[in-house]
Amino acid sequence: MKIYISGEYFEKSEAKVSVFDHGFLYGDGVFEGMRAYGGKVFRLHDHIERLWESAKGIALDIPIAAAEMEKAINETLDVNGIKDGYIRLIVTRGEGTLGLDHYLCRDPQVIIIADKLALYPHELYENGLEIVTASTIRINPSMLSPQVKSMNYLNNILAKIEAYKAGCVEVLMLNSRGEVAECSGDNIFIYKRGVLHTPSPEAGILEGITRRAVLEIAIKTGLKVKESPMTRHDIFTADECFLTGSAAELIPVVKLDSRIIGTGKPGEITKKLLKLFQEETKKS
Ligand code: PMP
Repeated sequence: MKIYISGEYFEKSEAKVSVFDHGFLYGDGVFEGMRAYGGKVFRLHDHIERLWESAKGIALDIPIAAAEMEKAINETLDVNGIKDGYIRLIVTRGEGTLGLDHYLCRDPQVIIIADKLALYPHELYENGLEIVTASTIRINPSMLSPQVKSMNYLNNILAKIEAYKAGCVEVLMLNSRGEVAECSGDNIFIYKRGVLHTPSPEAGILEGITRRAVLEIAIKTGLKVKESPMTRHDIFTADECFLTGSAAELIPVVKLDSRIIGTGKPGEITKKLLKLFQEETKKS
């Protein structure tokens, strides 16, 4: 495996950043997780745009132009011979001192890792996920915007620890108002009485690229969509529920906090949207 670090390729064992990099010391940096299908990155432009927004949000100047970044991503896929896989793109604040002073970090590092994908096991797509609600609250947008896909994922990791303790692989996170926000690494949707519903960005979520693609597909197929506050009650009483993410694509959810959602089996709308989403990835 060859890893791109700021213009050069390194073998995995040689791919290193400084322990003084503030990405390492403080989680000071931003990242993207992308998927390649048939050698092409799905919605690459959207990922690049979100990366630049995340960086702007933390006053980090990405050291290369967007076009150069796109070229480096495609080249990293080629160098590794990966046509279908996952790409992790990271921009760290760069090497500094042990203090917090970001302005002393003069050389932000760009890292690109392309790898085969470890998806959720196939049976979970067939049978659906069981999730639990975390007692860890999704970070409040007034503290740090969840729109910033930062290198500090401790909020999500604390929730994920709760998932594993409960025997689940994903976990529902509420916001500080007690509304549904998203899962630790996925957005959430429900389908109820003919309407596809997902929390709006005001709920304090990362606006997923997959979420956006699914909303577009749903609108195209004539489904009614609603982006508005959602509570756990809405999930308990939904006909169907599913999660979206670059790695997960669309994955059905059949239980929340041990309570069966809908029929307890992946729903027809979920299956249809997954099929349409997969067709969309072939087009890109
Ligand atoms: N929410 C969070 C917190 C995430 O980390 C992610 C990405 N793993 C998502 C939602 C889904 O975003 P995307 O569809 O862009 O992968």
